Amino acid sequence: MTDTRYIYDLSEGDISLKSTLGGKGAGIAEMNRIGVPVPDAFTVTTQSCVAAMENDGNWPEGLAEQVDAALARLEERTGLKLGDPDKPLLVSVRSGAVVSMPGMMDTILNLGISDASVPAVAALAGNERFAYDCYRRFIQMYGEVVEGVAPNVYEDALTELKNARGVAQDTDLTAADLKELTETFKTLSNEALGGAWTSDPREQLIRAINAVFKSWMNPRAEVYRKANGISRRLGTAVNVQQMVFGNRGDTSATGVCFSRNPATGTKELYGEFLVNAQGEDVVAGIRTPRPLAEMEEVLPDAFHELLDTMEKLELHNRDMQDMEFTVEDGKLYMLQTRNGKRTAAAAVKIAREMVAEGLLTKDEALLRVEPAQLDALLHPGIDPNNTEKPIVKGLPASPGAAVGGVCFSADEAAERGNRGEKIILVRFETTPDDIHGVMVAQGVLTAHGGMTSHAAVVARGMGITCVAGATAIKIDPAGKKVTIDGVDYHDGDVITLNGSTGEVFAGALTLVPADLNEDFLSIVEWADETRRLGVRANAENFEDASKARELGAEGIGLARTEHMFMAADRLPSVRKMILAENEEQRAAALEEILPMQQADFEQIFTAMKGLPVTVRLLDPPLHEFLPNLVDQSLLVQKLELTGAPTEQVEAEKATLAQVKRLHEQNPMLGTRGCRLAMLYPSIPEMQARAIIKAALAVLDREGETVGVEIMIPLVAYQQELSTQREIVTKAVEEEFELAGKRLDYTIGTMIELPRAAVCANEIAEVADFFSFGTNDLTQTGIGISRDDAEQGFLGYYVDTEVLAANPFETIDQDGVGGLVSLGVERGRSVKPDLKTGVCGEHGGDPASIEFFHKAGLNYVSCSPYRVPIARLAAAQAVLKNK
Ligand code: ADP
Ligand code: MG
Ligand code: MG
Repeated sequence: MTDTRYIYDLSEGDISLKSTLGGKGAGIAEMNRIGVPVPDAFTVTTQSCVAAMENDGNWPEGLAEQVDAALARLEERTGLKLGDPDKPLLVSVRSGAVVSMPGMMDTILNLGISDASVPAVAALAGNERFAYDCYRRFIQMYGEVVEGVAPNVYEDALTELKNARGVAQDTDLTAADLKELTETFKTLSNEALGGAWTSDPREQLIRAINAVFKSWMNPRAEVYRKANGISRRLGTAVNVQQMVFGNRGDTSATGVCFSRNPATGTKELYGEFLVNAQGEDVVAGIRTPRPLAEMEEVLPDAFHELLDTMEKLELHNRDMQDMEFTVEDGKLYMLQTRNGKRTAAAAVKIAREMVAEGLLTKDEALLRVEPAQLDALLHPGIDPNNTEKPIVKGLPASPGAAVGGVCFSADEAAERGNRGEKIILVRFETTPDDIHGVMVAQGVLTAHGGMTSHAAVVARGMGITCVAGATAIKIDPAGKKVTIDGVDYHDGDVITLNGSTGEVFAGALTLVPADLNEDFLSIVEWADETRRLGVRANAENFEDASKARELGAEGIGLARTEHMFMAADRLPSVRKMILAENEEQRAAALEEILPMQQADFEQIFTAMKGLPVTVRLLDPPLHEFLPNLVDQSLLVQKLELTGAPTEQVEAEKATLAQVKRLHEQNPMLGTRGCRLAMLYPSIPEMQARAIIKAALAVLDREGETVGVEIMIPLVAYQQELSTQREIVTKAVEEEFELAGKRLDYTIGTMIELPRAAVCANEIAEVADFFSFGTNDLTQTGIGISRDDAEQGFLGYYVDTEVLAANPFETIDQDGVGGLVSLGVERGRSVKPDLKTGVCGEHGGDPASIEFFHKAGLNYVSCSPYRVPIARLAAAQAVLKNK
């Protein structure tokens, strides 16, 4: 026999044992400890579940004996006995993981009721009908949940009986009817299991505990864990608890309540109850529960005790509580309490008000709001009082809510969206070719792809609602329809998306506007008082920059210039520049581009005047600007075959030759970043001029301009940066000369190659600042291409927990993070005050932000809508590392 302890009695536990007893088990133990009435119980530890899981489902040595001993102690304490004909003990078997998890095994109630004990249950309650009602419910619940009997076996028999008696409701069946039903259920169960049905309560208890262990590994639970980053290694606990009966007549009841309104955060009575009901009757929707306020009339004593208990539990846990209770013959019992889930609006309200009430300090309040939740407040949301049920659920890929008519092609969405129609783009998954459709849509719904799928990333960046990976929908783009839960939605049919929860609804739900109210503002302002990291935004146009500023960005950490080159009116000039055969041609093309670039910069600088803006010089994979090699070859062939004019053929042939010459096997690792600028110095020179002209123009016009920071991309060698620095400095100084005035500017670089991180001390000698491009650093550091990895093995790695998380979503702290730390350290070894930041999606991820805080960076930069998240996450990083 081992010494390992697998069981705690109710009185032995407390909240500090949550990882061992699970949330539910630790919660009831803590309530018991502080004198709140709780039915007696014992809890089988989460470690027992893990031990069984690791041993092919076999129980660890000693567990069965410990269950028997714990049961004997419970029997002793209650003066009752499982299956006893005189004084029967009835228990519930409840699963409870450390974090509350849907998809786990349903609770078994009334275990212990048997042929031997049912008469005593009837006698003690003075109610035979009640006893047989419990019995038949138990057989059904146990049969379905533990033994896997098909639900219709029981339901059909029940319907048959009701038909035979000519009644509509279960409640119309008599004691005799239910007794008969119980017999039928037993026979049917035994038949379904080929004679293996057990009626022995002890055996049932063992099997029920085992079923909870097994449910930890069921596919529903797996899916939920994966979506929420919960490790399988946590296991679930099993609570075996004496039954209390809310269904013993009119002085009994059961209900759920919250200490504050979880939808709005308001401190008010919130909950529901049902008289003469058990367990999940309240949430099951068979009978309509009554608002809690009405309990005062029906069960006044229990009601007032409940109010006091709610208050006590909230004060004790110093957080809003979500509770379950049962009243048996007028006596109140609490069955569960936990910190309540809440909407984003409620989270900020409760945090702020608890500070005002003196319940929390500001620091504690800051830790009470999930940074990611704030996002939901920045977008319109679904009315919190909505009662519609979703038709399907996907991943909450980009928050907010959207109402629109379904549309199945990006082209059509673009056209209809531009006409002002409200569109929901429904695609199997999106590609960069769909961007024009995504941009004008209210929301995007995809059947495929995860939280970092193309659709998700693009939608988040643009603040467009997205539900991704709704695998249960069937899209038929040719037939212009999508089938959801058996219903067809045709082109133009209206649906509503909730990108904050992943839910999809039929029809148009009422939306409420984004709410940057006092509660929200207080929280982010408190965060600003606490955080050390600066927060900037990635933006490359006026709208995004303005939005970022409104949301509290302290500058722009990354203004990319590629997109400025991609616009339809520019691409011809840009191609001319790239395909130029000599410096003259190139200079001419650049002359055309310069004023366009300058205009772009002026817009951004106007939005950000007074703040620093980092402009990154061109970093294109070349192929993005060029005609496709295959397409161009085909074009030439076609022109030759159709006898097109020689001039035209020759021109296209010349282009083809250029495309061939510039063709790269691996463009992401080819002539990118400063490499192109090294080959064609006139490009960075033009960009530097455009930047300075713009900054001076804004200074003239607005009386104020931005802090100019010019950033050289993808540097590996000191020589690259020093060369680029010379080119840029020369151009800048010439512009100052021309304008007859100057302004402050700095020149720095992206660190996005392992070599740059390792040789950061050399590079720092010629850099005024570093900005870690952690997306590329992840690709180059781990040696993976994001597109290929996310389409391929990465999902498998995350599923099988080879990796704890997708390294593009949250930084790989040991590896890529190590390169960042090394870069900071080596850079500062030569320039102690070297300014360092992070741009890229990790800059908006709370876990990565905590890492960057610890690594000593100066700022993070993220997409505009993530700025408030980053502000809060940066404050939490300080508080968590105090
Ligand atoms: P869930 O995790 O789904 O909420 P619970 O274990 O909390 O499952 O139980 C389901 C329902 O059964 C709840 O309404 C709960 O209050 C009730 N219940 C659980 N144990 C008991 C008990 N010992 N006596 C009475 N009701 C119980
Ligand atoms: Mg449940
Ligand atoms: Mg519960």
